[in-house]
Amino acid sequence: MKKIIYLFLLVTVSFSCKDAEKKSETKTTESSTQLFYKGEILTMATKKASYAEALVEEDGKIAFVGSLKEAEEKYPHAKKIDLKGKTLLPGFIDPHSHFGMVSNTMGQVDLNSPPVGEVKTIGDVLQKIKAYKTENKIPDGEWIFGWGYDESQLKEKRHLHKKEIDSVLPDNPVYLVHTSGHMGVANSNALEKMNISAATKNPEGGSIARLPNSKEPAGLVQETAMYPFMGTMLQILQKKQADYFESTQEKYASNGITTAQDGMTDRNAIQFFQSQADAGKFKIDLMALAGYTELETNLKDSLINWKTYKNRFKVQGTKIIADGSPQGKTAFFTEPFLTPVDGCESDCKGLPSLSQETLNDLFILAYKNENQLFIHSNGDASMDMVIAAHENACKELDQALDKDRRTIVIHSQFVRPDQLETYRKYNIEPSFFTNHAYFWGDVHVENLGKERAYFLSPIASAEKLGLKYTNHSDATVTPIDPIFTIWTAVNRSSRTGEVIGPDERATPYQALKAITTHAAYEFFEEDRKGSLEKGKLADFVVLDKNPLKVEPVKIKKIQVLQTIKEGNTVYKRD
Ligand SMILES: [Zn+2]
Repeated sequence: MKKIIYLFLLVTVSFSCKDAEKKSETKTTESSTQLFYKGEILTMATKKASYAEALVEEDGKIAFVGSLKEAEEKYPHAKKIDLKGKTLLPGFIDPHSHFGMVSNTMGQVDLNSPPVGEVKTIGDVLQKIKAYKTENKIPDGEWIFGWGYDESQLKEKRHLHKKEIDSVLPDNPVYLVHTSGHMGVANSNALEKMNISAATKNPEGGSIARLPNSKEPAGLVQETAMYPFMGTMLQILQKKQADYFESTQEKYASNGITTAQDGMTDRNAIQFFQSQADAGKFKIDLMALAGYTELETNLKDSLINWKTYKNRFKVQGTKIIADGSPQGKTAFFTEPFLTPVDGCESDCKGLPSLSQETLNDLFILAYKNENQLFIHSNGDASMDMVIAAHENACKELDQALDKDRRTIVIHSQFVRPDQLETYRKYNIEPSFFTNHAYFWGDVHVENLGKERAYFLSPIASAEKLGLKYTNHSDATVTPIDPIFTIWTAVNRSSRTGEVIGPDERATPYQALKAITTHAAYEFFEEDRKGSLEKGKLADFVVLDKNPLKVEPVKIKKIQVLQTIKEGNTVYKRD
């Protein structure tokens, strides 16, 4: 996800130069040295799991890892922190999510189905949006937005109709975003506001669903047809981003994350984040991936902090969207979907979002300027295009195919085995998304067949090739919770309990590497983050149980007790 995030962040947030210049970082380090002991201190520093008896933090960094005796001798005045048998790990590094979108959901009605939310029927959706208006005293005429409904999880197994929304909210424009982020449903008032009527034709690359035997819009708008709604929504919600900034950070920190990501960031948002950073408002690190349509302008912008944090914020590289989503059947495959695809008659393989030519140009521009690329790619045909663009750029620029540039293919969801080998050869790394096995595993088996579905986000195969895979939530597509991503990587259980590809199940240690050491590597931060080693940042998470020592199916019940960023506690469970 999601081109729309980027395309429609049209709001001009005006920051005065004064704001940007004032206040360098105000440090609030508890300067005392801390000695952690009597716990499972899992270092993640070795090939196989290894534990340290004691760890010393000093000035925000790890000063010592080793025996308790030696720690006590070297640091006799350290404040001793008894872990009481709990597990201390490197702070989680979020390989891919959307900080800004998480923030935006705080201004919308939550329409997720269990286990994320509680919506089970269309009636539940209607009741929730009606209650939202009443509880928040929203006047007539003002927009109401909802997010996360999934028609496949509703009892009725269909999208809502505009008239159903009209029946509870006739006087407000309403737009409800589908869980995929690639479509949504509007009521009559909203369709009118966007000038969408029976006379409106489907835009290129999108579709407006119609009522039976009529041209009258039914409410559902897909892909490019939803852009005007998303644009309006993001304009309205972005004005509130400063209000939700603090709680968004807290949400990440409460999940054990010490480095978060905004996975597709436009220039306004980059400016917003940097201004928050310069005002000393970041407790954890945030990296942004800048949107590809602004790559040229961004490369010329001396105010962008590429790759290096300034006051806990950096822009790591550029995000490209190469195709759509597999569950929305817009991901681009070499073999067709096995079930009907809306708006497609035959041989339906999904679609690329960019032409090969455009992709080639973007790769050349980025590689020429040593700008790290992060490409959203789900289907194998789309990954063929990514690999071709990589080869073409290397040839054009006379660069080695395997140069250490760490191009990351975000999702790599339906990568083929031969493509994984190509990744290895070219030093391209995958960032997987095993939460799909749970949320859409059953749907993928139906739409794509067992062979393709079972190889989704193949951590075990990537491990055999020595790839430095990561594993993400893509929040808001699935919940931020890294513990849940460990659970899905290790179990690969679907909603119905089917194991989606038993051979690709990761070990708990591999699943942990995907959000610690490997993630640090993918963002060129392996010297300062990802493992508990002397000299690295004192970024930690404390868990109530050790993921390597509980029954795999119970991993999801593990709780984050405390999150520590450079020696400071940024979250503590009551
Ligand atoms: Zn994303």
